[in-house]
Amino acid sequence: MIVVDEERIFKAIEEKRPASVALNGPDGILPQVQKAASRVMERFGIPAYVIADATWGTCDLNSAGAKTLGAEMLFNVGHTINAGEYPGNVYLVDAFDDVKFDGVAAKAAAMLAGTRISLVTDSQHLDQVGPVREVLESAGVEVVVGGGKGQLNDGQVFGCEFYPATDARDSGGAAANVFLGQSSFHAAGVALATGLPTYALDPYFNEVREVTEFARKLRKKATLAVYKAAEARTFGVVVGLKEGQLSKTAGLRFKRELEKAGKSVQLFAMTDITNERLRSLRGIDAFIQVACPRISTDNRFDMPVLSTPQGNALLRVLRGEGEGEYLRLPHWL
Ligand code: SF4
Repeated sequence: MIVVDEERIFKAIEEKRPASVALNGPDGILPQVQKAASRVMERFGIPAYVIADATWGTCDLNSAGAKTLGAEMLFNVGHTINAGEYPGNVYLVDAFDDVKFDGVAAKAAAMLAGTRISLVTDSQHLDQVGPVREVLESAGVEVVVGGGKGQLNDGQVFGCEFYPATDARDSGGAAANVFLGQSSFHAAGVALATGLPTYALDPYFNEVREVTEFARKLRKKATLAVYKAAEARTFGVVVGLKEGQLSKTAGLRFKRELEKAGKSVQLFAMTDITNERLRSLRGIDAFIQVACPRISTDNRFDMPVLSTPQGNALLRVLRGEGEGEYLRLPHWL
């Protein structure tokens, strides 16, 4: 069960006494966000809007939505980072899953005894890194928790940012990754960024799932798109309009480099980059979107839609250098 740190919300409201507030969170925890909003309204007698649009990460807080509503504070629930606040009265509120990993960690320990592993997880299970480390170490697994960087805490990864995992491999000598949680999305990213065998520990099904092969298939699909895009004549370069995904510099760099390679380029800007929206654009053979890399690697499109690392691979291919290890990076942006 997801437990939201509601006390933090109440304390901040008591201090600032706003006339209205807004709350949002990832789809999986919207029911808890709804409950927290109801409690705010009961306790303080002020409007508490649930912004029910998607919020995929701290790159996508929707503070513009809160501003449009006139809400004086925005509580973004479930995207824990190493800072609690953003400018503009945006508060990041922890939401941890209270499920325990003891059983599945013991299973993993039996499989990995004698191996030096990197222990990583997403925001919802960060508080379990310590307890799982103890279970693994007491059964003879060597555990490295890589250092955080940027917004990441030690041992934490995002869908496109993996510094603790690459740190544990490079400085800690880890030979495999153990990811805490059900998210194949995050675990496969860790596998791709490090090039190491990666195991997801699913506490709900009490199952150790190797995701290395799944990650290899994701990379294969991403690479096929790169080579298909190399044949395109006309490109659309799409800049994301979400607040933390705006990369005009990268978009203009791709435009410049593609034109140098003899391609023609049209510039687009979009909030939600979906197959349906792209299909309504005419005369474009392939796209490079410089917003969230996982839009390209984890979705199906009718035409090649490359992310930033895939776009870099494309430029290499156009120069005749081969695609290279374009996803083996601590940060895909
Ligand atoms: S850019 Fe995409 S993968 Fe990276 S943090 Fe934002 S939503 Fe997650």
